[in-house]
Amino acid sequence: MSTTLVSHPPTQTGSFGHARCLVCRACGAEQQLGAFYACLECFGPLEVAYDFPAITRESIESGPSNIWRYRQLLPVRADIATIPNTEPGFTRLIKADNLARELGLKTLWVKDDSGNPTHSFKDRVVAVALAAGRELGLKVLACPSTGNLANAVAAAAARAGIRSVVLIPHDLERAKVLTTAVYGGTLIAVRGTYDDVNRLASEIASEEEDWAFVNVNVRPYYSEGSKTLGFEIAEQLGWRLPQQVVIPVASGSQLTKVDKGLTELGRLGLVAPTQYRIFGAQADGCSPVAQAFRAGHDVVRPVRPDTIAKSLAIGNPADGPYVLDTVRRTGGAVESVTDAEIRDGIALLARTEGVFAETAGGVTVATLKKLVETGQLDPDQETVVFNTGDGLKTLDAIADRVGPAATIDPTYAAFRAVAQ
Ligand SMILES: *Cc1c(COP(=O)(O)O)cnc(C)c1O
Repeated sequence: MSTTLVSHPPTQTGSFGHARCLVCRACGAEQQLGAFYACLECFGPLEVAYDFPAITRESIESGPSNIWRYRQLLPVRADIATIPNTEPGFTRLIKADNLARELGLKTLWVKDDSGNPTHSFKDRVVAVALAAGRELGLKVLACPSTGNLANAVAAAAARAGIRSVVLIPHDLERAKVLTTAVYGGTLIAVRGTYDDVNRLASEIASEEEDWAFVNVNVRPYYSEGSKTLGFEIAEQLGWRLPQQVVIPVASGSQLTKVDKGLTELGRLGLVAPTQYRIFGAQADGCSPVAQAFRAGHDVVRPVRPDTIAKSLAIGNPADGPYVLDTVRRTGGAVESVTDAEIRDGIALLARTEGVFAETAGGVTVATLKKLVETGQLDPDQETVVFNTGDGLKTLDAIADRVGPAATIDPTYAAFRAVAQ
């Protein structure tokens, strides 16, 4: 991969909160905070490292009802909540007793991220990427996207009053195209898969030095946004960690950063550092990480995606090896499910808990079911399953299996003929 690492003047102290530097996840080399995503020494992926002060539960609880209540744990300035933004996060954690009963689990929660401003978890990561891009003097908010990221980038840029440029595969769900285009900005459909779009974005990023490609050149900051899912779950459980978490895997960034967030809470003494297991969920039609997990491999062989779970259709996942590390270290697993099981998962969650998930949520619910049935997940341990997006964006997934029970004339007799 050829990359141009743009050097910016040293940033002002405090522009990134308590973040100290970027550190390479492969070799541990440190470098200054900037629009870098690859290590200068070994080209490994970079992540944000911090010098945290003492942080109290009270200081978090007195913050706003969005991700900025955790601003001390993110690479953002102290007054971030006052700068116009989409205010994502603090979505509901639902006690899912009906679904638990159906699956034979003792205690189950659904973390429902469809409640975000553009109806997926991507609003979290984009908000942090935008904050970093602004501090780095970048002028345009851009991304390659499988759909939800496109929505989040276009909306966040509109709210911030800056230009957005969004690249998508040409065959995305119509709803995800329209719900991006409506925010204005430049939307470009590319004839190719997401992985083709991603490659093009890297090429553009190396030319347009003042663009913030949220998941490319400001990826270390972007991915920190996913930690807030872990923070919220712990706070919503009354400041303790869950025992098992089931998370969807596309690039794998979310899963690894939820783990980072849960670990940080323990290190900072905000929760008791109890053990937890992390499980990854993929669609069979794009399951490179699940395949590597089953085969016992450390490397992930790219695949060509073919699944209805388009938001997870990344055939060459950047964080795949780190997902494998995380699930193996915590005693979890990565499983995958068929498109039919995904549709069943969507229907099951809707029928039992009144939550209408997009295909990615169908993937996690179906994977949870499979993990229980195959004995990989302990039904007696408290479990959180993620729904990361809204079913209204992927209506086609259930269009041919649900509908009215009957169509009748407006008379009582006609009603009685079809319903009791
Ligand atoms: C992008 C996305 C994911 C996966 O995110 P990664 O961090 O790339 O693994 C999960 N669910 C939904 C709905 C998404 O849009």
